[in-house]
Amino acid sequence: MREKISTGTTEPGIVMNKEILTEQSRCPPSPHLANQHQTFMMFRMSQPTKSDGAQTLLIDADDTLWENNIYFERAITSFISFLNHHEYSPQQVREVLDDVERECIVSHGYGLHSFAHALARTFERLAVEPLTPALHETVSGFAHAIAEHPIEILPNVPETLQYLSGRHRLILMTKGALAEQFGKVERSGLKEHFSAVEIVAEKNAATYREVVSKYSLPADSTWMIGNSPKSDINPALAAGINAVFVPHGDTWILEHEEVATVETPSRLLVVESFANLREHF
Ligand SMILES: [Mg+2]
Repeated sequence: MREKISTGTTEPGIVMNKEILTEQSRCPPSPHLANQHQTFMMFRMSQPTKSDGAQTLLIDADDTLWENNIYFERAITSFISFLNHHEYSPQQVREVLDDVERECIVSHGYGLHSFAHALARTFERLAVEPLTPALHETVSGFAHAIAEHPIEILPNVPETLQYLSGRHRLILMTKGALAEQFGKVERSGLKEHFSAVEIVAEKNAATYREVVSKYSLPADSTWMIGNSPKSDINPALAAGINAVFVPHGDTWILEHEEVATVETPSRLLVVESFANLREHF
């Protein structure tokens, strides 16, 4: 069950909302993995938008502004190697982990704590030996090592944000654990380009409607920009705003989803890279 609270304003220009997940029961059955190998479906692009007026650009962070998923993939590779399962192939171990991660998102939300929990649960399910405190430390260490990785900004992001922020209002919109995401925003050096930062527990249509309402955003001049069809594109379109899909070659498998059909009046753009946003805004 989810209980939503607002953590309020921590400093000028930074407003954070967070849904707190309270664990009241064991995780529900995880969704089937039928969609995990689907590739992004490309579609006909709408006409490019000319900047004839200031727009509001909601911009995703992980794997849109900076690398994120590659660190998790490396941690998973290390975990699977450490587990060294004698019956399950690495792919089979990965499928179990994906299922456990889905369950842990429900109970623990997104972020490193949830991921560390998923690794430990997967070890318990698959290993023949018990998860001793020492083993637990090793396994969860694969996850917590991610936090120590320096932020790697994706190509041309700072100069593109500089350009966009001079023409439009930018709001950073990222999901995940509050402290983790806020820490990354701070360390990225990119915060100055944004008029606000929204850290949310989940990105669904209701979340986008809340943000649109909170900032009194006109739907026709508001865009969500990001790498995830599941979290950035489809729910934004469902909420009636526009979207720009910036594919990333290493998007997390749990974010894979076909891009929804665009319904008028929403508009959808696909750009090859973040720098290409300059051509549209
Ligand atoms: Mg992302």
